[in-house]
Amino acid sequence: MMTLDQLNAAGEDALVALLDGIYEHSPWIARRAFAARPADGFASLAALKHALARVVREASVDEQLGLIRAHPELAGKAMVAKTLTAESTNEQRTAGLTDCSPEEFARLQQLNADYNARFGWPFILAVRGPRGLGLTRHQIIDTFARRLNAHPDIERAECLRNIHRIAEIRLNDKFGITPTLGNQVWDWAESLARFSDPGFAENGQLTVLYLTDAHRAAAAQLADWMRECGFDEVGIDAVGNVVGVYHGTDADAPRLLTGSHYDTVRNGGKYDGRLGILVPMACVRELHRQGRRLRHGLEVVGFSEEEGQRYKATFLGSSALVGRFDPTWLDQADADGVVLRDLMREAGLPATMDAIQALRRDPARYLGFIEVHIEQGPVLNELDLPLGIVTSINGSIRYVGELRGLASHAGTTPMDRRRDAAAAVAELILYVEERAGAVPEVVGTVGQLQVPNGSINVIPGRCRFSLDLRATTDEARDALDADVRARLAAICERRGLSFTLERTEAAAAAPSDPAWQARWEQAVAALGLPAHRMPSGAGHDAMKLHQAMPQAMLFQRGLNLGISHNPLEAISNDDTELCVQAFQALLDRL
Ligand SMILES: [Zn+2]
Repeated sequence: MMTLDQLNAAGEDALVALLDGIYEHSPWIARRAFAARPADGFASLAALKHALARVVREASVDEQLGLIRAHPELAGKAMVAKTLTAESTNEQRTAGLTDCSPEEFARLQQLNADYNARFGWPFILAVRGPRGLGLTRHQIIDTFARRLNAHPDIERAECLRNIHRIAEIRLNDKFGITPTLGNQVWDWAESLARFSDPGFAENGQLTVLYLTDAHRAAAAQLADWMRECGFDEVGIDAVGNVVGVYHGTDADAPRLLTGSHYDTVRNGGKYDGRLGILVPMACVRELHRQGRRLRHGLEVVGFSEEEGQRYKATFLGSSALVGRFDPTWLDQADADGVVLRDLMREAGLPATMDAIQALRRDPARYLGFIEVHIEQGPVLNELDLPLGIVTSINGSIRYVGELRGLASHAGTTPMDRRRDAAAAVAELILYVEERAGAVPEVVGTVGQLQVPNGSINVIPGRCRFSLDLRATTDEARDALDADVRARLAAICERRGLSFTLERTEAAAAAPSDPAWQARWEQAVAALGLPAHRMPSGAGHDAMKLHQAMPQAMLFQRGLNLGISHNPLEAISNDDTELCVQAFQALLDRL
């Protein structure tokens, strides 16, 4: 087995020799990593992995392509001729590629040929997968076919990330390291995903809407696991939150609150929300196993509802904890006419405001709220960073609008006499893109566009659109909002159109508490990783808890370009291991 001390003591040639085979036929990577080795050595295996990835990221495009081309095709000629490196042979065999049926083999050859014709390099996939156990041939072929359609720049970056994942697994093998905490969390998430609502479950899709059978089964499963982990108190509260408490040594000391949601969007991923419940569970499991207690109690909440999929109410679970559960929500009906109050009663919940208001937490009894979540975006992926520290959850403002012009004949109306509502919205969209792009940490999107009763030979007389503006601070959001609305008025004035604009939502930004953000930064730095700070573009339960106590979040990188709210959502066991370790480091320093 190799050790970090060995690597840190090695001279240049010795280090290159030690890392031989980690990056396929590319010793230059180890050589440059040696040059970048800190004076006191790499702080951790994670730090070494990051340094190697950084060398590749900072290399020229030609060097990156050289690295990609140093890899064999999957189930390609080299595999058939048995001329692969020992590492590649092992990986392709583990993935079962050496046992392809003739049809699968033919399909892979066709994909190899199409891929090479399109990109000019071989398809790279870490076939041992996000858990390290090996993807199925079916998964490999699906991924191959999907990535064939990617833009070349995006695909090149995805190949490099897969190369880093291959290197990570090879390094783990050399160091004799198994990410057991990450595996535990990964396996829990996989197991929890077996509960899915009817209509989706049959197709292998994950959907868990509020208080369905699958939702209640997931809650019961989480509660069971919490008991097995060694939590002292476990229960399901009046809105369906799963709450576990691990007592501290000082009963009078305030508790640390943490958690995230276990409901999902329709056809969603396995880690959105759930990661933030499972990571602290793994920490408690370890504390209990070691017979350790912290001074402060730790309270982990699996929030029952965050996504707002079944009812118009969102953050139903976390709202109750901050006393913001709106009584009128109980009278809301879902798409099938099921009234929330009746649904709750049927699920055995009291469905009274007294019981719900009793869930409100007294902020004086808590140190604060922290939340772990997948990033749900591409930033950490692009930076080859497993973890990021959230500086603020974006404030948002949403509108639906309609522009009214004049629907007239597409052939007979001269260009200078038109009142084209769609062209005016197009102008607005380009302005939103330009204005939001001009300052950092502000985003603006027109996600819905519609020409009611539009026709190919009629100038659009009406155009409906949505508008979603977000920023890390309320000031930045309001400035963007004011500019966009002023431009809308100006466009309509100039083009002779009228408009309506209805605000449908406004949420204040939730900046992280500086002290808690600093604790996350120290926890990540303790792993030997750079503490990358970033805003959260998406809303999270922490936004609600922000109304009652200090909060800060930690993001974990998602695979597949960070895609989320999608079955392609994925995390690796190694990243998850680091996430658990960061949580442990934070707890240890409390
Ligand atoms: Zn979420």
